[in-house]
Amino acid sequence: MRAEIIAVGTELLLGQIVNTNAQFLSQELASLGIDVYFQTVVGDNMDRLRQAIQTAESRADVLIFSGGIGPTQDDLTKEALASVLGRGLHYDRMAMDNIDRFFQGRNIPMTENNRRQAHAIDGSTPLPNETGLAVGNAIAHNGKFYIVLPGPPKELMPMFRNQAATWILQHVLTHEQPIYSKMLKFAGIGESALETRVLDLIEKQSDPTVAPYAKESEVTLRITTKANSESEAMAKLEVMEKEISSRLGDHLYATEDVPIEKTIVDMLTELNLTVSCAESCTGGLLMETITSIPGSAAVFHGGIVCYSNEMKEKLLNVPHDMLEGENAPGAVSAETAKVLAEQVRMIVDTDFGLSITGVAGPGYSERKPVGLVYIAISRRGQDTAVFELNLKGNRETIRIRSAKTVLYHLWR
Ligand code: ATP
Ligand code: MG
Repeated sequence: MRAEIIAVGTELLLGQIVNTNAQFLSQELASLGIDVYFQTVVGDNMDRLRQAIQTAESRADVLIFSGGIGPTQDDLTKEALASVLGRGLHYDRMAMDNIDRFFQGRNIPMTENNRRQAHAIDGSTPLPNETGLAVGNAIAHNGKFYIVLPGPPKELMPMFRNQAATWILQHVLTHEQPIYSKMLKFAGIGESALETRVLDLIEKQSDPTVAPYAKESEVTLRITTKANSESEAMAKLEVMEKEISSRLGDHLYATEDVPIEKTIVDMLTELNLTVSCAESCTGGLLMETITSIPGSAAVFHGGIVCYSNEMKEKLLNVPHDMLEGENAPGAVSAETAKVLAEQVRMIVDTDFGLSITGVAGPGYSERKPVGLVYIAISRRGQDTAVFELNLKGNRETIRIRSAKTVLYHLWR
């Protein structure tokens, strides 16, 4: 499989921006085992863009486009490609809804040109845009493959990794030497910290290749190799898995694509141990996360949402002086987290009691900063472990990360 990257934009030709998308795409394609033979840059001009597409078709099997799918008149990529392929354009319903919601949410009228961002070439697979409005397109036509991506890197990168790569595996690489891949799942570490520790493996394009894979609040590496048999592939993948595990073993909780709550439920089931939760700032999210796993009934007994100080006192026996008063540690404190975990464990009568109390934001609470969260794990017959977290992100992310982090410490 030979690929050509076509970066569209007069800004690139004028030297006003650097073609980082081409670098990114080349690395990603290499990790999928696709050889990039050419990188083309072409301005926002219909005739020259059509010419670039025709040239690329004569020398590559896979054409990847970056840019020129925004709302303005100089965004021509989909029109040019549709005209070369002799196909029409239509509006993708989901993308259109997305655009409508975006403008309604901000209470600004949508101008007609914004509809262009929902354009899809007839017969194409729409590639949803997680971080912007313009929908991507993937299409197979006369034995060639075309993938159209947005220009802004923060849109192009997730669209490639989360949408286009899967489409390529399903539609483009089906006749190649089979590809085997494995998902390694990490917790208790951020995406960029993890990337730094395996950067040499990612950049070296070693065999198996290593590529980060972004998913909401989960950190994942995909390791991929080509091989003639499954046993050969598994042996190669295992060597890489060992290498990564030697660097990140403290965080590697699964070697298949499962969330940490699944690993926890399996682990507790196997050990015949039970758990209960006391939640303040997460309002039940931890319990929702655990009970989303089928079979959690064997290990999860119940818990208490103690959002107000009054409920912390009444239901979980947190001393009044601990919560309120001049020199009290307050609801968001290591002391309170510890009491919450110990009390819920005793009240519900389980082996573990988990607690979360913190500031999810957006405003300060108790004059403590947003993202300051205390979590505690009480275990029958052992000292309670308390952790202070300083999480970044919006309210939703902070709440999800708090819940995932308790599960991570429980796993360890
Ligand atoms: P928009 O909706 O922003 O118009 P678009 O898909 O039409 O998106 P362009 O208009 O071509 O894309 O580019 C938008 C911005 O994305 C550019 O101003 C630049 O910041 C960035 N960009 C575009 N192409 C590249 C590239 N090849 N490498 C890095 N950044 C790029
Ligand atoms: Mg544009």
